[in-house]
Amino acid sequence: MINYPKNRKTLPMRILGDGVLHSVTKEVTVEDDELRKFAEVMIETMYEKDGVGLAAPQVGVSLKMITLHVDLPVDEDGNLLRPLSPGEAVLCPKMPITVLNPRIVSFSEMKETKEEGCLSVPKVYAPVERPVNVVVAGKLLDGEEFCLECTGLLARAFQHEIDHLDGIVFVQKVKDPDFEKALPGFKKIIKKSGAKNYQIKRLV
Ligand SMILES: [Zn+2]
Repeated sequence: MINYPKNRKTLPMRILGDGVLHSVTKEVTVEDDELRKFAEVMIETMYEKDGVGLAAPQVGVSLKMITLHVDLPVDEDGNLLRPLSPGEAVLCPKMPITVLNPRIVSFSEMKETKEEGCLSVPKVYAPVERPVNVVVAGKLLDGEEFCLECTGLLARAFQHEIDHLDGIVFVQKVKDPDFEKALPGFKKIIKKSGAKNYQIKRLV
């Protein structure tokens, strides 16, 4: 039984140091109206904060559920910038999407480093190295299951949001010297969040 937040259009963001962000989430097993309503609130919250993605624990619900809005990689005239990955071709036209129990099935050896931010780490950005391509499996809220190779921002967004479901926040994956540079910003956020005893457990 999940206690979803009631009667809210959007939800306050949980901030770095909040226990729910640093805990492994539970699988979604019941797909009912409550879950669908919660998905709408997640999407509204993601749009309100101008986010590309949101994971349920970021709004205090410890479930394997994410929302995304990643557009097709196009130029100003709407022309595709490169051939699409199967994931982009299938999923980008459906945005925004809610994905239940998403998981990374495999990832490429090739990696790239790009700047990331997170609604739970407001206004502090830092580079994170991640595989360029990932195969992601999951179930859309309308019941459609998928297992698709993704690249570009979609691949990065999936990895960032699925990390949240494992209790991992991107700050844990920032390498030196970028970590040292961003640390004062992270510390300020932790101090504001009131999580005095939280210490960033680095994974790189
Ligand atoms: Zn995030």
